[in-house]
Amino acid sequence: MRFVSTRSQSKSLSFLEAVARGLAEDGGLYVPEKLPHFDPEVFCQYHSLLDFAVPILSSFVTDKAIVKDLSALCQRAINFPTPLVWMDEETAVLELFHGPTAAFKDVGARFLAQCLSRIPSRKPVMVLVGTSGDTGGAVASSLEGQDIRTVLLFPDRGVSPFQWRQLTCWGKNVRSLAVINSDFDRCQKLVKEAFVDPQWQKNWALTSANSINIARILAQVTYYAASSVWFHRKTGKAPGFLVPSGNAGNALSAVWAKCMGFPIREIVLVTNVNRSIPDYFATGKWQPRSSTSTLANAMDVGNPSNMERLFFLLDQKPEMRQVLRAYSVSDDEIRQTIAERAWGQVWCPHTATAVYQHKKLGSRYWIIAATAHPGKFREIVEPLVGEELVLPPALRNIMDRPQSFDKVAPDLESVRHVLFEQS
Ligand SMILES: *Cc1c(COP(=O)(O)O)cnc(C)c1O
Repeated sequence: MRFVSTRSQSKSLSFLEAVARGLAEDGGLYVPEKLPHFDPEVFCQYHSLLDFAVPILSSFVTDKAIVKDLSALCQRAINFPTPLVWMDEETAVLELFHGPTAAFKDVGARFLAQCLSRIPSRKPVMVLVGTSGDTGGAVASSLEGQDIRTVLLFPDRGVSPFQWRQLTCWGKNVRSLAVINSDFDRCQKLVKEAFVDPQWQKNWALTSANSINIARILAQVTYYAASSVWFHRKTGKAPGFLVPSGNAGNALSAVWAKCMGFPIREIVLVTNVNRSIPDYFATGKWQPRSSTSTLANAMDVGNPSNMERLFFLLDQKPEMRQVLRAYSVSDDEIRQTIAERAWGQVWCPHTATAVYQHKKLGSRYWIIAATAHPGKFREIVEPLVGEELVLPPALRNIMDRPQSFDKVAPDLESVRHVLFEQS
């Protein structure tokens, strides 16, 4: 399988090359040249996510450096459960929050980390991540202890207490830099500056690990494939998916899973009040804008980058338009949903958007993608449900670890100084 840019299809790359580059040279995102097709019947006896991951991912990954031990690599990446939990006869929740940082990003980030360790490079590999929270934690936890220098750049203001902990607790090969006088965009810009800086280029094989990386999207396809087959096996129906969405990487994985032949009826993208995606589906016009802060802050995206991949797909398969919808949910509706505790559950603010929309749609046979554990957002959730949450072991572990970070001024020279000359 080869990968091409969404902007020009003249040059194609292997999987590992696309992973190493992250973003295409022409500014586009990498997509598979052609999505493979699977017969879901073949999978109908499979029970674990790994049973699905290995055959699905091996149709994309053809690099010699990985192919032989793809199975071992998947085992190390997917080493936690992603259960489909039944709420009633026709509604299930796909719990994606049982990994080391208790959010769905663990699946993609852990697979990406395994792939990065296989990149053939003469220079040492360095992963640079500009992050405001969840991505940084998932990437750092996946790369901790590996022979890959990992640097997280995050704004020193506007990061929640828990997010701060999960950005600064990794040590070893992970350096955490709190950038003063900055915001998320400034941190991302620093990363981009390093990527084009000759000095950095000379010393390091630089790579990025944000959600545009193709490895993350492909790893996520596996849980949509698996849960749709499990759902179909039990109910005889192809489920619709409700996916809390920001950058739309997670929803895109669901769309690809449907295109690959898995029994999925439709996909609903649910956003917070950052409504570029619902507006696009309503008007047919793409108008990205700046983002607004909400209770579901990992979804505060005004210009979701993975829409470029979705547009590319819709050009080739316009019929997919019929099975996609998008809705926007307000902070008040998020609060109300958390307080209502549908099916007796406590929902994180992100998952709550999908739970709200599920109730509003009122139709049957749905899987709700639960993207994070509510314990990551105690400040928001506990007052609404009126009780203290019991944290899962992964989150307790993050809270108990020692923290270490450096403050750095918002320019590349200061970053270089702190990383290479101070310690
Ligand atoms: C990142 C994130 C999202 C949004 O996922 P996208 O792939 O960016 O659409 C939703 N919920 C949680 C908890 C997240 O961390």
